[in-house]
Amino acid sequence: MNPASIPSTTGHECRVVGSHAELRAAIQAWRAAKQTIGFVPTMGALHAGHLSLVDAARAECDRVVVSIFVNPTQFGPNEDFERYPRNLQADVALLAPRGAELVFAPQPAEIYPPGHATMVEVSGVANPWEGAFRPGHFRGVATVVLKLFNMVAPDVAFFGQKDFQQSLVVRRLVADLNVPVVVRVCPTMREADGLAMSSRTAYLSTEDRRRGLVLSRSLKLATELFAAGERDAHQIMARMRELFVATPGVTIDYLSLADGDTLAEVDRATANTVALIAARVGNVRLIDNCL
Ligand code: AMP
Repeated sequence: MNPASIPSTTGHECRVVGSHAELRAAIQAWRAAKQTIGFVPTMGALHAGHLSLVDAARAECDRVVVSIFVNPTQFGPNEDFERYPRNLQADVALLAPRGAELVFAPQPAEIYPPGHATMVEVSGVANPWEGAFRPGHFRGVATVVLKLFNMVAPDVAFFGQKDFQQSLVVRRLVADLNVPVVVRVCPTMREADGLAMSSRTAYLSTEDRRRGLVLSRSLKLATELFAAGERDAHQIMARMRELFVATPGVTIDYLSLADGDTLAEVDRATANTVALIAARVGNVRLIDNCL
């Protein structure tokens, strides 16, 4: 890996480090100067959704640290770990102008050295939906997030609502393990046509990308039905499913109206209801949600 150093808008360099030792050295100086640290964990292949989290961190904190790490423990054996897009240089070129000062881009052995034997298991909100369809996924997420929190020791960490269940899992982890980090959840950034931005849309053919719009369209329909007074969750889910039936080539993993805190499916929709969808378009798996 080539450590890069690109000027950022804050007048500081955007430094790329790969080791925990370098990360710690950079952060110690900021801590000594009583500067607050905002942290944005990512898997790279950055898009405007990630950059909106960097902007939020920039607005709230003195220093911004971004991690880029395709975390092997959160991928299942038949998932896309090997082919997940990786382009550190392009990512750093996007981060520097947004004012990120430090990019932590470790190799897997830096995070999981030989002998690593501790994993973090969140139950409750981690169990349904993504947890059921991707066994072990949230164990990998919780483990890497806690490790990164321990390494970066941020004051505030920024996550996207796009991964709604993940944000609940992280909040649970932070509360249960007394992690001294404030968790912020930022709105989902979308393409002009409504598709939630995702590193995985790069895999989609033009035709599949068009099919993938059914996720955001069905969420829009749910919002419209709710705004028009519909409160019967099963009725709303049925209307959403009709759009999927009319879109060949898209297979639903789950589609649910759930409680925004517990993620248990609801019978009546309220202001605290979240509509959650995961679907496969060809061999690409997309998720989306709206409150
Ligand atoms: P990832 O690189 O997919 O692990 O995502 C890193 C962070 O960016 C997570 O907190 C995601 O929820 C967030 N994120 C991903 N896509 C979006 C989006 N379209 N809008 C806002 N945040 C996003």
